[in-house]
Amino acid sequence: MLHVTAMHIYLDYNATTPVDREVLEAMLPYFAENFGNASSIHSYGQRGRSAVDAARDSVAELIGAKPAEIVFTSGGTEADNLALFGSVAASNQSRKHIITTAIEHPAVLNAAQALEQQGIEVTYVSVGSDGIVDPQDIRRALRPETILISVMHANNELGTIQPIEKIGRIAAEADVYFHCDAVQSAGKVPLDVESLGVNLLSISAHKIYGPKGVGALYVRAGTSIEPQFHGGHHERDRRPGTENVPGIVGFGKAAELAEINREANDAGIEILRDRLEEALTSVLSAVRVNGNRSRRVANTTNLAFAGAGGEALLIALDLQGISCSTGAACSSGAVEPSHVLLAMGLSSDEARSSLRFSLGLGTTSDEIDRAIAIIPPTVERLRALSPRALSTVHAR
Ligand SMILES: *Cc1c(COP(=O)(O)O)cnc(C)c1O
Repeated sequence: MLHVTAMHIYLDYNATTPVDREVLEAMLPYFAENFGNASSIHSYGQRGRSAVDAARDSVAELIGAKPAEIVFTSGGTEADNLALFGSVAASNQSRKHIITTAIEHPAVLNAAQALEQQGIEVTYVSVGSDGIVDPQDIRRALRPETILISVMHANNELGTIQPIEKIGRIAAEADVYFHCDAVQSAGKVPLDVESLGVNLLSISAHKIYGPKGVGALYVRAGTSIEPQFHGGHHERDRRPGTENVPGIVGFGKAAELAEINREANDAGIEILRDRLEEALTSVLSAVRVNGNRSRRVANTTNLAFAGAGGEALLIALDLQGISCSTGAACSSGAVEPSHVLLAMGLSSDEARSSLRFSLGLGTTSDEIDRAIAIIPPTVERLRALSPRALSTVHAR
């Protein structure tokens, strides 16, 4: 399972995960031996088709959907874009409003901004200081012309779990489509499209130990979306293009393993995450956990290290073999503080001093012990630097 270099401590599983050995083995025959185009009538094609069908069953099973409701895409980003652009394009022209939140992944936020350029009005509902959206705020944002509500399940930076079931009921009452980006909750919490009450739901293989470049959009039977690409009749006319057979096979295997192993994996990972969090918040002064600590996935902790620059800390930790993330976006050369932390009400300085540690199946107790030994002195060293010295580190 562990493909990360032995000495290195990879704590960035929310960014991506290594491909599970079993997943890799399931994929390998579909590159060169069983290379058929799943749309071909001959036996090569049929082998590809049946592999794609089996994977579709596993992915559907992971989220409680019917196989026909799964549309394979090139990843979570495409699934999010297909959900937003596809449902707006399929809607009645007089309806011109969508609702989303201020803490969505850029795949939703930037798609919503692009829709604004096309004349769609977008309400960005904010979150509480705990990083959780209030369903009543979603209800208040509804208008007669609302087409779609899009709210993520687990936030990628904080791990906080949004009240999707409640928002699903609000969307159903208002007869508005409901999309959920479940990329970070898949494999971490039970997912059931019926109880969540969603019309559309995005997932991605590389966040659950599958390959990069493959994902899926769940499209509830009866929910209409316009395809965003034009080509053949693949994926029941919802997403054309020759199927990425090895990728889809890998996604299917990853979904199967996630379904079987989720509870056991979660329990072990939560113990390690809590140990790391406890140690850092008790050994160091002025360290705060960002986001609700009980309503979150088991593998994520986001910590504000007051007085230390997050970017400088990230680089200093990387030099000592620890990989983590700031959640900040690097746009046009300048590092912007995380939009998620700002939406929670953190100051720009607090947001800039925050780091996300996300654990996974390869994380060992020994790695957490080493992280606990390395991180505090590194934070103290950076805190001792003057703000001027800190800004020099930033500038490099
Ligand atoms: C990673 C991620 C995505 C994007 O998925 P890709 O497969 O990398 O395109 C979308 N949403 C969330 C919440 C994510 O964490």
